Formats: sequence, structure tokens, C-alpha cells
Amino acid sequence: AKRQGRGRWTFFDRALEAETRRRRTLSEALRRALEEERIEIALQPQVRLADGEHVGFEALVRWSRDGVPVPPSEFVPIAEETGLIVLLGSRVLRAALAAIGAMLARGLEPGRLAVNVSSPQLTDPGFVRMVERLCREARVSPARLEIEVTETVLLDRSAARIAEVLAELRALGATIALDDFGTGYASLAHLQRFPVQRLKIDKSFIAAIDRDGREAKIAATVIGLARGLGMEAVAEGVETARQRDWLAAQGCAIGQGYFFAPPLSVEAAAEALARRWTH
Ligand code: C2E
Ligand code: CA
Ligand code: CA
Ligand code: CA
Repeated sequence: AKRQGRGRWTFFDRALEAETRRRRTLSEALRRALEEERIEIALQPQVRLADGEHVGFEALVRWSRDGVPVPPSEFVPIAEETGLIVLLGSRVLRAALAAIGAMLARGLEPGRLAVNVSSPQLTDPGFVRMVERLCREARVSPARLEIEVTETVLLDRSAARIAEVLAELRALGATIALDDFGTGYASLAHLQRFPVQRLKIDKSFIAAIDRDGREAKIAATVIGLARGLGMEAVAEGVETARQRDWLAAQGCAIGQGYFFAPPLSVEAAAEALARRWTH
């Protein structure tokens, strides 16, 4: 029994060691990719559910390692732990603003630009100044920016500082959206302390609409909550006409998902917008 016990420990030690090594290799590769400017973005359209009008894009980071795309769910958490997220986030913001600036220069109306921002970026001392500078360089008004933060920032140990930074971004004209709403542990009391204009309903609750389950009631509750607080609800992961119709009937303002468009390359996003424009 003893030997088996030891064997297990060795197994767990090895698994842990392998995981530590995997993370280190991944973060080193990511650091190189950042140095060599090989980090890209995709832009996913957002539409107003009442009439299908284009209202904006969400920027999503894209990274391929030796030609193979690495999912953000794998490297974003590692970038957050290692602090690389600060540089990664500024690269995403710069690339996304450049794309929006180019659309504006072509006479297109891209609407809002939503970017995902993590706590270490918000607590980085130069963040607001950097946002201002990047907007100026790209000739895009900060009023087009929507800062997407997850519920977890409301519970961060620097929550008070983060609330200040979000207020400074609001003062520039940017809006704040709470991402993945309903999946975390934030309460209404937490929500109240932050200057939030939009609640993004997590896609797990949208998927449940087709099953008519308890989770669909959560989606309906978030939409009602947003309305009650004078905010807009945004549904992510909309994949079917049935979900779109249900969300519109519930009064959800905005939708995003494969039903409308997948995340697009910068070029494809501009082309999609140009086509909409001429139709
Ligand atoms: P998120 O912010 O909740 O982004 C939505 C995710 O849903 C994206 O995954 C998007 O590609 C995917 N998606 C879009 N439409 C649909 C749909 O109809 N059905 C389904 N099932 N999925 C859909 P992606 O691009 O893999 O990103 C995953 C997560 O990584 C994001 O979740 C976000 O938390 C994080 N992330 C992505 N880009 C950035 C970034 O630039 N900075 C930071 N800090 N985090 C990022
Ligand atoms: Ca998001
Ligand atoms: Ca989300
Ligand atoms: Ca998410």
C-alpha cells in the first residue's frame, strides 16, 4: 500500500512538473511573439436586436504558434499570471484602434469598439494615459471605446482602485461593460460601485434558451436587471434565429454570435461593413 501511495505522489509530482513546464514554454513563446509583433486580432460584429443594425465590434486576441492557433482561453490566463497581459492588452488595443481608424478613413461607420481588459492592466499606473494616446494616434474618439471587464474585477483586492480607473475612462467618454455576467460571484452591491453601462450575458445562458431551462430564466433575469438599472443587455454566443427572436422579445438590446457573424479578420470585418453600407 505504501509503495502504491508513493507511486501516486510521483505521478502527481510529474503531472505538476509537466504543467509548470508547459506554462513556462507557452509564456516564453508568447513573450517572443509579442517582441516580434506576431499578435493579431479578430473583430466580431455586434448588432442591435430590434432592427439588425450594426452597432460595433468586439476585438479578440489571436495568436498562432508554429502555424497552429492557440485558444485565448489557454494563453490569456498565463499572460495574466506573468504580467505579459499588460503588453498584450496594449497591442490588442493598438491593432483594434488602427482597424477602426482605417474604417473611418474609408467613410465607413464601425460603431463602438469593445476590448477585453484584465485587472493587471487596469491597475497598471499608465493605463488611462496609454488609452488616450493610442486613441489619438489612431484618430479614434475614446467615446467609441467600450471597456469589457469580467465580474471578477469587482471582487479584486484592488477593486477600489479599479473603480477609480473605470471612472477616469468614463470621463474620457468610454463606456464600461460587465462581461460573462451571471457566471461569477459578484452581487448587486458590488455592481453599484462601478460605472457600468452594459451587462453581457454569458453564452452558457444563451445556449440554454433553446432548452427552455432554468438558465434561460437567468438570461431573462439579467435582461430585466439591466433595464431596471438603466443599462443595456448584450447577449453573446447567439447562434440561432430562435435565440435571437427570444432575446429581442425579452428586450435585450444587443446581440453577438455566429448567427450574425463569427470573429472576422480585420480585412473581412471592413469588407462586411462596406457591403452592409452599400446594400
Ligand atoms: P469573451 O470575452 O467572453 O469572448 C467571447 C468568446 O466567444 C470568444 O472566444 C468568441 O470567439 C466566442 N464566440 C463568439 N461567438 C460565439 C458563438 O456564437 N458561439 C460560441 N460558442 N462562441 C462564440 P475567444 O476568441 O476564444 O476568446 C475567449 C476568451 O478569451 C474571451 O471570452 C476573453 O475572456 C478572452 N480574451 C480574448 N481576447 C482577449 C484580449 O484581447 N484581452 C483579454 N484580457 N482577454 C481576451
Ligand atoms: Ca468579452
Ligand atoms: Ca463573455
Ligand atoms: Ca468568457
